[in-house]
Amino acid sequence: MSVEIPKAGELDRLRKRNDELEVIFETIRDLISTLSVHEVMERLLDRTLQHLNAEIGSILVLDPDSTLRIMLARGLPETVVEEARVKLGEGISGFVAQNNTSLLVTDIENDGRFQGRNRERYYTSSFLSAPLRLHGSVRGVINVNNKATREPFVDDDLELLEALAGHAAVALANAHRYEEALAQGKRDSLTGLANHGHFWSSLDLEIQRAQRYQREFSVVLLDVDHFKRYNDRFGHVAGDQLLVSLSTLISERCRATDLAARYGGEEFAILLPETRLDGAVTFAEKIRATIEHQSHDPSGERGVTVSIGVAAYPTDGEAPADLVKAADAELYRAKSEGRNCVRSTR
Ligand code: GH3
Ligand code: MG
Ligand code: MG
Repeated sequence: MSVEIPKAGELDRLRKRNDELEVIFETIRDLISTLSVHEVMERLLDRTLQHLNAEIGSILVLDPDSTLRIMLARGLPETVVEEARVKLGEGISGFVAQNNTSLLVTDIENDGRFQGRNRERYYTSSFLSAPLRLHGSVRGVINVNNKATREPFVDDDLELLEALAGHAAVALANAHRYEEALAQGKRDSLTGLANHGHFWSSLDLEIQRAQRYQREFSVVLLDVDHFKRYNDRFGHVAGDQLLVSLSTLISERCRATDLAARYGGEEFAILLPETRLDGAVTFAEKIRATIEHQSHDPSGERGVTVSIGVAAYPTDGEAPADLVKAADAELYRAKSEGRNCVRSTR
């Protein structure tokens, strides 16, 4: 039996290929061990820079308005990261995203396709860029510059980047699915608002934060007046529709940092960080008045009103249950004092 011995050049090639596979394998193992999209991106970028011996790297994500935004960067000043927005088709990243293809630019100074490079930041003229795909379509771009040896990148480097970015797609899809499921579990299925459970965990966090930084915040509880009558008169489907339109109205009045939740059947809870009792009462009064003056029922008659109770941390309660109990007591007072009004401990 004869054993074929590889020639020296062949052996080198095999060794190199083996190293490359090891790098890819290690990176995949690292990427699939996290279920956070952001962390997948971070690990991908760090591993890529390490294996390509490069000092600057970035990951850009494609926003719904077809511009690329830097999500993550290494070796770039913060101001550049915050400001940078690239249109599809513009520059290297824009080219890669638009054409769904990776790119090796050996010498950008002499490449007619790209201009506007910042010479102070990049001491090499060579760039690598590859698309990041989610379920097959381009969702972002990974860029690598400034090889530590100051030599240009070569085809093998691009091949490695393509392989890493390609395998990251699976980890990204998993993490994305997981994050969506997680978000779904926090939402009420009818209205899309936060659900009861998510309200309580957010309240816990808000109390921790307020305690630590000595801040104030408020809790608003809202209940639809005579909702049973509305259901009886117009049916449950119309009742559900009313809950959806009230949710929209409430969400529109909330700031990005507020949290609106469906607390129960026809009850809503709103968490207002950094808001004192006075501010929360003003907010509640605006919502109450808007609902009162809007036409809700299918016959075009007015008639839907809400009662609201407001409580503030820490004056009305320092524990989550105490705070909600205080807001609930005020809501009860609003009901017993004629409904269609806001009550607080003020
Ligand atoms: P009050 O002014 O005292 O709050 O009177 P109310 O009729 O609103 O209060 P009550 O608690 O007696 O009744 C609440 C009603 O809300 C009972 C139920 O029929 C209705 N409801 C609760 N959840 C839903 C829901 O998801 N969809 C619909 N359509 N109705 C609901
Ligand atoms: Mg109720
Ligand atoms: Mg009610």
